[in-house]
Amino acid sequence: MATTEPVVLIPEFKAHYGSIPNFINGAFVQSESTRILTIDNPATGKEIGTVAMSTAAEVDRAAQAAQAAFQDWRRTPPQTRIQYLFKLKHLMEERFEDLARIVTQEHGKSLEEARGSVMRGIEHLEVASGMPSLMMGYNLEDGAAPGIDEEMIRQPMGVFACISPFNFPMMVPFWFWPYAIAAGNTYIVKPSEQDPISQKIVFELIEEVGLPAGVMNMVNGDKEVVDALLHHPLIKGISFVGSTRVGHYVYHEGAKHKKRVQAQAGAKNHLVVMPDAVMEKASQNWINSFFGCAGERCLAGSVLVCVGDEVHAQASAAFKEAAEKVTVGYGLDERVFMGPVISASAKARILGLIETGIEEGATLLVDGRNPDVITPGCEEGYFVGPTIFDNVTPDMTIAKEEIFGPVACIMKVETLDDALKIIDESPFGNAASIYTQDGFTARKFKYEANAGNIGINIGVPAAMAYFPFAGRKDSFFGDLHGMGRDAIDFFTDKKVVVNRWIWDPKTMGTWS
Ligand code: NAD
Repeated sequence: MATTEPVVLIPEFKAHYGSIPNFINGAFVQSESTRILTIDNPATGKEIGTVAMSTAAEVDRAAQAAQAAFQDWRRTPPQTRIQYLFKLKHLMEERFEDLARIVTQEHGKSLEEARGSVMRGIEHLEVASGMPSLMMGYNLEDGAAPGIDEEMIRQPMGVFACISPFNFPMMVPFWFWPYAIAAGNTYIVKPSEQDPISQKIVFELIEEVGLPAGVMNMVNGDKEVVDALLHHPLIKGISFVGSTRVGHYVYHEGAKHKKRVQAQAGAKNHLVVMPDAVMEKASQNWINSFFGCAGERCLAGSVLVCVGDEVHAQASAAFKEAAEKVTVGYGLDERVFMGPVISASAKARILGLIETGIEEGATLLVDGRNPDVITPGCEEGYFVGPTIFDNVTPDMTIAKEEIFGPVACIMKVETLDDALKIIDESPFGNAASIYTQDGFTARKFKYEANAGNIGINIGVPAAMAYFPFAGRKDSFFGDLHGMGRDAIDFFTDKKVVVNRWIWDPKTMGTWS
């Protein structure tokens, strides 16, 4: 069980970040909006800043600035453009610990998880720095006929924007903008209104690296800003990450306004346990998968599908034992494995779903409704402890809906095919994992599981930056995934040039 030793909280505990400004045309500017939201530290429930919900006029200013910057920026050689990414990478490495602490304070995840998210952001700067090679085209001599050569060149398109979720406030915008600007586009970031402080700090560093004004912009806000981005005629493409409901809307609304859209959406991920799984290692892995980041991860495990009675008995016992050892508290307290969820309303929604699970007849194996919070001073925090339901059936609400909190469901099936059917019938398709030591079983799963990211003995199959990332079904709307080579296709337009140069024997000599 959790220890109750007192912990000395570090000074950031009291940090107040003031009112988070926008960043437009190379300068921080306060929004003119009078619609102000408070930003809470979810571990303490205390206000740590405020943010104004910007207006469509402010989005227009950002879009005009980005458009004005575009012509010079696209003419800046890629080799010069990426120097700014290198500089930012170095600044982020210097400020690494501060950045991680800010993520923990505004989002709640543990310091270790926050560090991981900052590292993942930096990884995108590194990969996008390969842009001079990545965006090369190709050509073919005599491609159409003798003397007619063909070539494909990639060109930037103009202004792009991303709309970001609350669960990785530092990392998610890095999935997109480093590739966009390295390829010669200009950019607008719309952070989540629930935790916009990390992006404010990133933009302080962006200001420090001295990018030309207008290349990178940030507008804070909610639906009004999102709609203004979706409707703005200067914006060529939108990358969205968030819930399925909003992702579906963004995809349709963006396409209606002639934009490229990639919308990465909600999830309900299944982890299948086979009789030959290495149970001790696997159960540790489930703790990270289901309860890491308090379950607020699009790749979080949600349903543990046990194949056979024996597996079910062993897996539920091992999972329960491991879950009961999870420490809950303020993420800055290094003893803590799991922090709070993002807000009082998220907590209320998750507790409501736990009630529904009980009403619908699932067995509450581990009850996280009143967790033992080990960090002093967190009485008002939004904590839900690790929760496990056993004997869940596919028709139950908790088996179908995305909970986005630390609530695990355990199901029992007879065969691997039964498990694959459950995965296939889920409306979501972000990730699926299998625990087995058998190569053929793993291959069958990899081949047949209907999800965009597959884990083999891995509970959070998070691709590195150089691989594409997106789900299937209601977990993704669009064609080109985020990251990897897809990012190059998304942020450039291909142009084919057919060349013929006329040979004049009188003036040009002999043609051999
Ligand atoms: P959300 O959909 O509520 O918000 C995402 C963004 O959309 C925010 O910037 C928000 O301001 C904006 N928004 C919210 N409501 C809107 C509306 N009605 N109209 C227009 N814009 C609106 O998502 P969230 O709660 O911030 O994030 C959690 C969700 O994100 C989960 O469903 C999770 O699975 C998903 N997610 C998916 C991925 C992925 O890669 N598939 C990654 C991270 C998170």
